Amino acid sequence: MPDQTGGVHAIRADLHSHSNFSDGTLAPGDLARRASEHGVELFALTDHDEVGGLAEARAVAAECAMPFISGVEVSVSWGATTLHIVGLGVDPESAALRDGLGHVRSGRTRRAQEISASLAAVGVEGAFEGALRLADNPKLIGRTHFARYLVEQGVCRDVREVFKRYLVEGKPGYVPHRWATLSEAVTMINAARGVAVLAHPARYRLDSLALHSLLEEFRHVGGTALEVVTSNHNADEVRRYTKLALDFGFEASSGSDFHGPGESANVELGRVPRLSPELQPVWHRFV
Ligand code: AMP
Ligand code: MN
Ligand code: MN
Ligand code: MN
Repeated sequence: MPDQTGGVHAIRADLHSHSNFSDGTLAPGDLARRASEHGVELFALTDHDEVGGLAEARAVAAECAMPFISGVEVSVSWGATTLHIVGLGVDPESAALRDGLGHVRSGRTRRAQEISASLAAVGVEGAFEGALRLADNPKLIGRTHFARYLVEQGVCRDVREVFKRYLVEGKPGYVPHRWATLSEAVTMINAARGVAVLAHPARYRLDSLALHSLLEEFRHVGGTALEVVTSNHNADEVRRYTKLALDFGFEASSGSDFHGPGESANVELGRVPRLSPELQPVWHRFV
């Protein structure tokens, strides 16, 4: 039975964030310092498909006396749906993880060229070069960099608008892509002695049947937790995934999914409501 009087639940944990090693705008050390300044008591950097920023984030977290968890957010194709699986407590030196992530990253540049061609077809020129210029890590060029380019060019007002009008299924700049399988992602995380967390589950817009089959499969392949609290979830969604975590026997995680200052209103490091006391916080494993 989890401690309901405080304890693990009371720790302000932010276990989902991005640096400029993927599509965040801050360097890993600056991100860790900002987390500490915002009262985060347990912090994880979880860059997309990349562990290169972890050493710097860990070093600065130590300077700030803020406990740190090495993380990653792995891109997955589950049928036609793209999912994100956060790995927490991974060993960044694990060969299985490094090889697996290298494989997941490998198609990004070609995909970016295809995204650019699709945008050019509707009159948006120079998107590949523009996105690459905005990507501090050229191996990790992603849709967020294109979104920032479209904002910079005045095509859209903000990144939110871009993800309504471009880069998503049925809109210009959408390019389907094969990422890791669900089983591959969870296996590479577990092989690196981490635990797998299904990130922002409400974001996938699955119907009830598909969602249940995803949760069954995630549990079957070795998944440990659901990200119940995230800036992507409203209060109803938090309640819904609290219940599902309890029904399926998953632990629960919590994270801001912060990508940078001013990137998205209301998203800030450490700005994460508490988990329901009935849930077992996944961070009980790390404290
Ligand atoms: P990629 O891995 O290149 O497909 O890019 C995925 C990233 O795009 C996510 O990690 C988010 O940072 C961003 N993204 C996707 N959908 C949205 C959205 N609706 N609003 C804002 N950012 C989004
Ligand atoms: Mn992102
Ligand atoms: Mn994500
Ligand atoms: Mn994320």
